[in-house]
Order: sequence, then C-alpha cells, then structure tokens
Amino acid sequence: MKDQIAQIQKQALQEIEKVEDQKELAEIKVKYTGKKGELTKALRGMGELKPEERPAIGKLVNELRDKLEEEFAKKEKELQEKELQKRLETENIDVTEPSKKTTLGSIHPITQTIKEVEEIFLGMGYQIADGPEVEKTFYNFDQLNAPEDHPSRDIQDTFYITDEIILRSQTSPVQARVMETQKPPIKIICPGTVYRSDTIDATHSPVFHQVEGLVIDKNIAMTDLKGTLEMFAKKCLGENTKIRFRPHHFPFTEPSAEADVSCFVCGGKGCKVCKGEGWIELLGCGMVHPNVLRNCGIDPKQYSGFAFGFGVERIAMAKFGIEDMRLLFENDIRFLKQF
Ligand SMILES: [Zn+2]
Repeated sequence: MKDQIAQIQKQALQEIEKVEDQKELAEIKVKYTGKKGELTKALRGMGELKPEERPAIGKLVNELRDKLEEEFAKKEKELQEKELQKRLETENIDVTEPSKKTTLGSIHPITQTIKEVEEIFLGMGYQIADGPEVEKTFYNFDQLNAPEDHPSRDIQDTFYITDEIILRSQTSPVQARVMETQKPPIKIICPGTVYRSDTIDATHSPVFHQVEGLVIDKNIAMTDLKGTLEMFAKKCLGENTKIRFRPHHFPFTEPSAEADVSCFVCGGKGCKVCKGEGWIELLGCGMVHPNVLRNCGIDPKQYSGFAFGFGVERIAMAKFGIEDMRLLFENDIRFLKQF
C-alpha cells in the first residue's frame, strides 16, 4: 500500500511537471484528487488493510493530498504567468502595420462652393454674418423696402408660419439686422439656407442656398460694385471671366441690375452650358435703396452702399457641370462620391 501511494505521488508529480496549460492541469487535478481520483481509490483500498495499519496509511494519503494541492497551486500560478507573458509577446501592437481602410465621406459640393466663396470675400476684407432662418416678415420684407402689397410677400411664394413669421426667402434680413446694430463701414457676406414655395424641378427647389453681400461706407459707387463682382467672378470662375450688367428691378436697391458672367466653358462662343448665349446669369445686385438705409438707422446723405446676392446651387452646378439641381439634395452616394 505504501508503495502504491509512493507510485501515485511519483506519477502525479511527473504529470504536473509536464503540464502545458491550465486546462490540462485541471484534468490532472480531477485524475488524482477528484471524487473518483487516484487518492480516493487508495483510501477505499484501505478496507483490505489490517486495522492497525490504517491510520498510518490514512495519514500518508492525506499528506500526499496536501502536497499535490500545493503543487497544483504552484503550477497554476506558473502557468498564469507564462500565459500572460505569451500574450504580452504576441499581442503587442505594430505601429508600422497599415491600418484597416476606412472610407471617408466627401464635402458636399454646396458646402465646398460656400467655403470657396467665403474664402474669396474674406480675402477682400469682408466679414461673414449669420442670422435666423425662421425670420420676422419685418426683417425679410419691411426693412428691405418691400411693403405689404409687394408680390414677393405673396402667400404663394413664401412659407408663412404666422402672419409675421416666415422661413426667410432670402438672406437679406441678415443685412438688415447687421445695419441695425453696426455702424458703417459695413462689409459683410451672408451665406445661408433660404426657402421659397417652389415646386422641385431641374432648376428649382423649395430649399436652397444664397450668399448675399453688403458694403456700406462713404462714397461707395456703382463702380465699386462692378469691380468687386468682377474680382469675385475671376477668382471663382476663372481669370478670363468677363461680367456684364443688365438693368433690373429689386425693391431694396436702386439702381438695380442683374449680372451675367461670360461662359467659363466656351469663353463666350456659345455652348450647351450657356445655352448658346455665351453668357450665364449669375446674380442680382444694385445700390442699396435710401429707404433701406433709413429704415436701418443709417443716414443716406452720409452713406451709400451696394448689395448683391446669388444662389449657391447655380454656381455649384456651373462649376461642377451638374445639370440637375435635384442631384444636390437627393443624397445619392454615387453622385456625392465624385466630389
Ligand atoms: Zn458656353
């Protein structure tokens, strides 16, 4: 019996020695010290011994159990350390390894165009002004010399929230707000979203973007307006761009004009983009109406100014050769990916 116990010990220690991982160790634990393990079997075998021999053998078995448990604990700790070490070695991060490819979005052509226009005017010393999209009719119309009976106030054309609150139909109310709170000289552009109850088609949308500009100072003349727009057109659409003015009417400017630019695709010869005209309609502009200045607390005898405004979509469509405005807001990823 003693030999048998010694044999179990020898074998168990050898097996513990060879163990490679924790799973294997757990199996050996069961094999020797489990309910049906070798040591339990040995204890059962004690029935065949003479009574006086039993205590000594029992003691041996218990001692062996203690010893083995100590060995198991020791081995377990050793294995844990080994596994940690292995993980540290194999899981270290290779900073030179190429990363997984992530797909970045692109900047929307409208945003790109607004940013570019902003850069051009910032370069000419303008500031960027912002204002509410949900606006009072007072700022959208009254302050801008568009009285109650003006056609642009028609319920057909403008989104009314109440009789006095609308979704702004232009970014001009920002100009009115700036004139009300700042003293001249004023030199601002107002980019932003505007709303009109237009039906969606290839060139119209009920939501679109405008950039408007306003300069108020002493001795500002029509030539300043023309020079500014020429500079802008060249920077935005190309050095060879020419500009021409056609008389027009707006309630907030007098005189008013529409400005065309020479077609930057054909250079004025006539093509598909300019519909054979050689010119592309770009914007509306004019000298700020004295009534507008007065409404906003600026003395028209001392100060004069010019204003202009254009649709961002029109410029983006021209610049990027987009033929249908709907592409700009349908969010088709195949379209957007190109920019
Ligand atoms: Zn052309």
